[in-house]
Amino acid sequence: MDVAKSISEGLARNVISAKFNGTTVETTTPLTTDGSLILYTWNNDEGKKAFWHSTSHVMAQALEELYPGVKLTIGPAINNGFYYDVDFGEHSISEKDFPTIENKMLEIARGKHDYKMRAVTKADALAYYKNQNNEFKVELIENLEDGTITFCDHDTFTDLCRGGHIPNTGIIKAVKLLNVAGAYWRGDENKPQLTRIYGISFPKQKELKEYLELLEEAKKRDHRKLGKELELFTFSQKVGQGLPLWLPKGAALRERLEQFLKKAQQKAGYEQVVSPHIGQKELYVTSGHYAKYGADSFQPIHTPAEGEEFLLKPMNCPHHCEIYNSKPWSYKELPKRFAEFGTVYRYEQSGELHGLTRVRGFTQDDAHIFCTPEQLDEEFRNVIDLVLYVFGSLGFENFTAQVSLRDPENPDKYIGSDENWEKAETAIINAAKEKGLNYVVETGEAAFYGPKLDFMVKDALGRSWQLGTIQVDYNLPERFDLTYKGSDDKLHRPVMIHRAPFGSMERFVAILLEHTGGNFPIWLMPEQCIILSLSEKYEKYAENVLNLLENHEIRALVDNRSETMGKKIRDAETQKLPYMLIVGENEAKEQTVSVRKHGGEDLGTMTIEAFADLIKTEINSILKPFK
Ligand SMILES: [Zn+2]
Ligand SMILES: [Zn+2]
Repeated sequence: MDVAKSISEGLARNVISAKFNGTTVETTTPLTTDGSLILYTWNNDEGKKAFWHSTSHVMAQALEELYPGVKLTIGPAINNGFYYDVDFGEHSISEKDFPTIENKMLEIARGKHDYKMRAVTKADALAYYKNQNNEFKVELIENLEDGTITFCDHDTFTDLCRGGHIPNTGIIKAVKLLNVAGAYWRGDENKPQLTRIYGISFPKQKELKEYLELLEEAKKRDHRKLGKELELFTFSQKVGQGLPLWLPKGAALRERLEQFLKKAQQKAGYEQVVSPHIGQKELYVTSGHYAKYGADSFQPIHTPAEGEEFLLKPMNCPHHCEIYNSKPWSYKELPKRFAEFGTVYRYEQSGELHGLTRVRGFTQDDAHIFCTPEQLDEEFRNVIDLVLYVFGSLGFENFTAQVSLRDPENPDKYIGSDENWEKAETAIINAAKEKGLNYVVETGEAAFYGPKLDFMVKDALGRSWQLGTIQVDYNLPERFDLTYKGSDDKLHRPVMIHRAPFGSMERFVAILLEHTGGNFPIWLMPEQCIILSLSEKYEKYAENVLNLLENHEIRALVDNRSETMGKKIRDAETQKLPYMLIVGENEAKEQTVSVRKHGGEDLGTMTIEAFADLIKTEINSILKPFK
């Protein structure tokens, strides 16, 4: 805080957290050596983390005061807010209690209590919580080394804590508890069940209001809700959890996405392949996937034959390696680019499943490129071009990229030689630079078999989603003994690139739904327009219009129900139909349609050809051919 004050009063007012030589410190921590200091305000993620973590202490204090005898366990900051897991003992708690707790929290906050860290010995820390009969904190402390244990005090409250607080509680001006849920101690269902209370807090009342509005909008855009309303997909308990069933409209949507990508991939020199949904266990032992997915995933499938074991395919790559191995290759024939919309299966705990974003069976828009080391740079750049084309055609503008490199401190975590890793990492960074991507480098985030480039998009509500991925792999070619004959007539190892611009069809459709609220780009819409006849008399004309539009390859449908026009328009709005064509006496006579846009804009009366042109222009403005 003294450093901040020495820079400016304004900065000092806003600083809420800091890092010194890479370690989180309090704004009151005395700095006794030289080093690198970063000051954080509310506008930094680190600042928010400190803010929310500090608020969780205030909530804990409020809970202790309101419900004597509660046992606190852990209460971290999360992406949006914080939670605290609490053993309420004899008390029970519901959302009805939230206002009381919130008011208590604000009352404490207004006291402007400083957060003060202090070191305690292990013996003192254990004694403190044993005295409170809090077996949870005792267990936490037992796992800590003596000499590293700290408590945080504010007001009359004390908590076991590693640190990272705002200066005082007075900065917390608005709090909102969001949710109450069950949670097991240490996430283990054999351990006691606790109550988890989620909350969020802000330095200004206005920011809380804006956040709650955003949350409301997010609920409306929840892909599970929209998927149901738009009849895209469903789940069946009989079929099984995490296994989506695509309804006709959803399947047609997927088909359009697939055709769109296949067309671009064909131009980019990819070839389609097809592989089965299961493979011999040995295949995945060879690839290393068994070691990664085997134990915690679906168990092997046994056949009546002795010793025969198959696994559900967790990845397409091993199959594609064997496709590559089906014949010898010369360097002149590379790169080979094998693409497949391949369905894979991975076990996820039932508590982790979520709509289409976390499922147990999903289809990747997968492809594997096998190239010479000299071709790697160019291939990588080509893949980035394809990914950028996909995002552009779907209206994703706000995306960022993350380059994930290995952790040099932990070389044992990774397969492959240092030299190969360095080559691959350099290729990725060069390509990201050259394509002008807005990217960050994350050390230690690489997959076990190679470095990668991931794309994240921000949706309309500013939330970040992970989409496509491109990964370099020097490892599988070794494991599958892939070769090609070089110009020197000797055998060499190809390099492999895994890539999936959508990521998976399931996840992508979910993100697209939440990003667009169901108002997809028009080329993707299940139906591009609906013809609404004013009465029975114009049904025939409506059918004529439908036929004419079909000739123009426009997807349309007719609403001939004997409902009022108001009802028909409302239903078409719910179905997110981009255009409504209203036909009555005048339109039938003049061979025209009255055009109303989704959302209400009246485009007036026009001929069917003019309307067809309007749609085609709209499509061409976003969906350009891949070059
Ligand atoms: Zn703390
Ligand atoms: Zn792969």
